[in-house]
Amino acid sequence: MKLGELQQHARHYINGRWETGVTTGISENPSDTREVVAEYARADRSQAELAIRAAAEALPHWSHSAPQRRADVLDQIGSELLARKDELGALLAREEGKTLPEAVGEVARAGQIFKFFAGEALRIPGETMASVRPGVQVDVTREPVGVVGLIAPWNFPFAIPAWKIAPALAYGNTVVFKPAESVPACGWALAEIISRSTLPAGVFNLVMGSGREVGQAFVDSPLVNALSFTGSVATGERILQSAAARRAKVQLEMGGKNPLVVLADADLEQAVECALQGSYFSTGQRCTASSRLIVEAPMHDAFVARLRQRLAALKVGHALERGTEMGPVADRSQLDQNQAYLEIARNEGAEHVWGGELLERPTPGHYMSPALFLARPEHRIAREEVFGPIACVLRADDYEHALALANDTPFGLCAGICTTSLKHAMHFKRHAEVGMTMVNLPTAGVDFHVPFGGRKGSSYGPREQGRYAAEFYTTVKTGYMLA
Ligand code: NAD
Repeated sequence: MKLGELQQHARHYINGRWETGVTTGISENPSDTREVVAEYARADRSQAELAIRAAAEALPHWSHSAPQRRADVLDQIGSELLARKDELGALLAREEGKTLPEAVGEVARAGQIFKFFAGEALRIPGETMASVRPGVQVDVTREPVGVVGLIAPWNFPFAIPAWKIAPALAYGNTVVFKPAESVPACGWALAEIISRSTLPAGVFNLVMGSGREVGQAFVDSPLVNALSFTGSVATGERILQSAAARRAKVQLEMGGKNPLVVLADADLEQAVECALQGSYFSTGQRCTASSRLIVEAPMHDAFVARLRQRLAALKVGHALERGTEMGPVADRSQLDQNQAYLEIARNEGAEHVWGGELLERPTPGHYMSPALFLARPEHRIAREEVFGPIACVLRADDYEHALALANDTPFGLCAGICTTSLKHAMHFKRHAEVGMTMVNLPTAGVDFHVPFGGRKGSSYGPREQGRYAAEFYTTVKTGYMLA
């Protein structure tokens, strides 16, 4: 099957069948907005409810399926993603706008995630405990949580769905999955692979469309036992309220305003490289992006000067063009939001160091240059998530001040430090109020086999990925037996 033909007609996958939508939408290439990447089916609420019912009907059988069966299915999906990473990476680069090497890397990661959870399906843990009563045996076993509703954002359209779908299936749940509206071809391509993996009808369902109709149908349905959401804080909070009202299990991964602390004893080149990669790669559209660069005073001016030099040389262009280091912004509304934040930064008195202009390229796209400001902690650009290629530098008097600035945020996803001091690195790892820390590494760029998630306003519920994913995708049962 050729992807080029099929992506023109991305349809829903409901109860083992490909279905047309109630309406049709399109996705376009942010590197060349003349190009339509996909025409896709859009569901309304009742079509989403059909998919939910199919998942509920498939649950009794799948939840008791043999772990080996689940392992084989996940392994097969992972192998195909890995084998087709170049082709699917090109689709991802076309639809979302990240550079081709970034996109190919993401598809490969999605493949590795499926393979990891293929193994986990065979390692579902349990415990046997001594009872406090004589003659009684106690065990604790894990069971699937039920029908899970998976709602994904646009910025990692293969990896994020993979790290939700793979553990959901590994632990015996059935799935209704909704990709973000701007990346339906990626969601569909993943579903197309899953559809050929011999899963029983209804175990996995893809429904495309708006968050307000399809997503909200997942959130409201009493048949959906658990909801895993990645996206914006505003949407996450709405989902939490509705889900809590009907006592559904919820996992939310939301925004970040991640600090990268650079101490005076850091290796300057290494620190600038961490900032460049962490703040601007993937066009800054990563929840783990380091949008606050907190630099100790003696290093401040040299760091800003060197980063400015690197930004000036950064190649911004078409995502598929060889040598492009930063692709376009993913869509028009995100570009408008970025531009609005540049205006806010200037109006609040942040000092402009570099970039932010709209760029003309041979193809019409959402191009802008990477932007850097010197800010104060109270500036909105230092407090609110922009989700674009925009970072600010905050000056710190010393390590303690830098740590206080790093923690002075409602978010708590990831925090990094560049230093040659083991003492400060260890102290920072312990005292950063986040879910993930990085030492002499960019804040973005994580492994797939360990927990991912944050604290404070960034996350809610159990962590994703690695074996910790079992906390969300299973429920425990305690069994007592008179021996
Ligand atoms: P978004 O919140 O607008 O949308 C995310 C998903 O939720 C989409 O599929 C959307 O259709 C759906 N949705 C919207 N309204 C809904 C509703 N009422 N009910 C149910 N679903 C609904 O976010 P986005 O613009 O797609 O993604 C960007 C955001 O995602 C950024 O703020 C970023 O920080 C965040 N993000 C977080 C992580 C993380 O792991 N913490 C990872 C990637 C992106």
